Amino acid sequence: MMTLTVTGSINIDHVIRLPEFPRPGETLTGSDYRIVPGGKGANQAVAAARAGARTRLVACVGEDALAASLIQGFAEDGIDITAIDTITGVNTGVALIQVNNNGENTIALAPGANAGLTPAQLQRHSSALHCRQLLLQLEIPLETNLAAAKTARDQGAQVILNPAPAQALPDEMLNLVDIITPNETEAERLTGIAVSDEAGAGAAARALHDRGIATVMITLGARGVWLSEQGHGRRIPGFAVKAVDTTAAGDTFNGALMAALQQRLPLSEAVRFAQAAAAISVTRPGAQTSIPYKADINAMLE
Ligand code: ATP
Repeated sequence: MMTLTVTGSINIDHVIRLPEFPRPGETLTGSDYRIVPGGKGANQAVAAARAGARTRLVACVGEDALAASLIQGFAEDGIDITAIDTITGVNTGVALIQVNNNGENTIALAPGANAGLTPAQLQRHSSALHCRQLLLQLEIPLETNLAAAKTARDQGAQVILNPAPAQALPDEMLNLVDIITPNETEAERLTGIAVSDEAGAGAAARALHDRGIATVMITLGARGVWLSEQGHGRRIPGFAVKAVDTTAAGDTFNGALMAALQQRLPLSEAVRFAQAAAAISVTRPGAQTSIPYKADINAMLE
């Protein structure tokens, strides 16, 4: 029962750097092609496990050559992989990412096996939902997230939702959530309130409280986190670091937050721990490659 369950996506990111984005019909030669493990569910599970949480990942991969090495990587990080299934006849989730000289990106997603994580598929691992915390994102079908949250909550789990990628959500989903962790864009998509300053963050947090969520953490990039408990909000500043690549900052924050909550740290201390982890991740290139271990996080906090 001391375990965190992450239910979510696994992706293989194919990243290519180009001087500029090709136009329709155009072929451009790029450089620096990399295949990188990704997917919000996988990234957050890795971040949680590296930060010290006992973590299980409920997810699906497809029938491709890279899937086995991805799963082996999760096991090497100490993640319980017994609830990762292979779905026949589909690909593992794929993101084709183009990055231009300005650091902007375009992303084409093929969800593949992530779309196969249906409520029926989830049912095969219902014992995994007997956990202390359930962490969800929005890269698997919404009905699966609803089923997971209902089952876990009925058994006394705390449900944490990172509502990414940005989308509007029904009250049916929000009512099942104890802690929500949107970034500024996601908070605006959920509430219709622009989060451009602290007043906006406070108003968006109150709107989320009004929809039944006790704890709201709006991540504000380098400015830190707006933490709002039962309507009382304050900004907890981030760590000043030289950012080289912010990919997976949010995923690292969410995963490390779970490790801190598993240690029963008070919320403000848990946010600091998670921010230290995320700050380290932005000083390193890549997604899963940039996610720190507990010793690095503790050193940052000293
Ligand atoms: P991403 O999509 O890049 O993974 P996100 O948009 O989900 O990230 P952010 O709000 O950008 O999430 O970042 C999450 C947390 O990471 C922030 O609350 C902060 O603690 C930390 N962080 C992000 N960028 C920086 C930075 N430049 N310097 C220090 N900390 C940062």
